Amino acid sequence: MQSEDQWADQSRQQGRGPGWNPVTGMAGWDPRLGPPGWGPQQAFSPPHIPPYQPTRGLSPWGMPARHSWEIPLLIVVILATVSGYLIALLFLLVGAVNYYVLLLILAPLLLWFGRGTNYSMQRLNAVKMSPTQFPEGYRMVVEAAARFGMATVPDAYVVLGNGQINAFASGHGFRRYVVVYSDLFEIGGQARDPDALAFIIGHEVGHIAAGHVSYWRQLGMFLVPFLPIIGNSLIRAQEYTADNHGFCNRHLGAPGAMKTLAGGKYLNSLVDFDEMADRAPQDKGFFVWMVNAMSSHPVLTWRMWALRDRSRHGRMFLRPSGPPAAPPPMPPAGPPVQMGSYPGYGELPGLPPR
Ligand SMILES: [Zn+2]
Repeated sequence: MQSEDQWADQSRQQGRGPGWNPVTGMAGWDPRLGPPGWGPQQAFSPPHIPPYQPTRGLSPWGMPARHSWEIPLLIVVILATVSGYLIALLFLLVGAVNYYVLLLILAPLLLWFGRGTNYSMQRLNAVKMSPTQFPEGYRMVVEAAARFGMATVPDAYVVLGNGQINAFASGHGFRRYVVVYSDLFEIGGQARDPDALAFIIGHEVGHIAAGHVSYWRQLGMFLVPFLPIIGNSLIRAQEYTADNHGFCNRHLGAPGAMKTLAGGKYLNSLVDFDEMADRAPQDKGFFVWMVNAMSSHPVLTWRMWALRDRSRHGRMFLRPSGPPAAPPPMPPAGPPVQMGSYPGYGELPGLPPR
């Protein structure tokens, strides 16, 4: 059996430098192996030692966790949908055919048709990301797929956003793809915020990694539009799961992505992520509960709170509770203000830096 030193020597001879990673087969640090500098043992484990199996969790290290409500809600929705199919079949057999019976009976065909049409629209109209077209986005998609241990890199397309901030993931047959609206490549204008884009691409690739765009899963979720609270809650749990993927892919981009969703691609700089997240436990009442419960995405303040508080999964029904909003940071004590030498804004004690 090879000793570790022999194996390391052999690796170096093969051009695998000290940063060579046995899991990815590439050079460079892999977040699945833990924080950088976590120890050479993991990066240089000999082949007879199985690679370190990272646990799933909410931290940026390891693999992203599925939201704890997703599978229970998925089971409920699939049971409801399958019951719907069986009832529709019963109605068909006794000859009581109406719009809803037909919709359910034809669901497998309608879904297949819709997915095929959607995929072809991208193939015919969208810009396909490649090493030469939107190379930054292409690289982020490849890196996100590697980050989540996916065997295949999904296709990625850019469509004209016309000011809209959006992205989605879908599939047809065995193909999987993400679509990013062009405005997301303009976040921050000239200043750019590539971290926010990497978070969003991680979110979309995460939908694929978590199996959300599978045909069979979507067939089992066909009744979601007719189940306002349960259905939307499942979609919301999936969004939290995808956010966990985005967070693992580029946790530094989470605030930027949320600020862009709140304020747009240019005015995102006017949004204070913490100030907005702090409102999550403060806004309360029946209608707050209802708007969230009927929402397909986690409401923005709760979503921000979940991306900031990584000690627990994002809240599904009850507003986040926690310590009261942290007081605004105190400015550092500056030198006493001298009369006649009034300092400019930014140096004045008591005002935040410009
Ligand atoms: Zn999503």
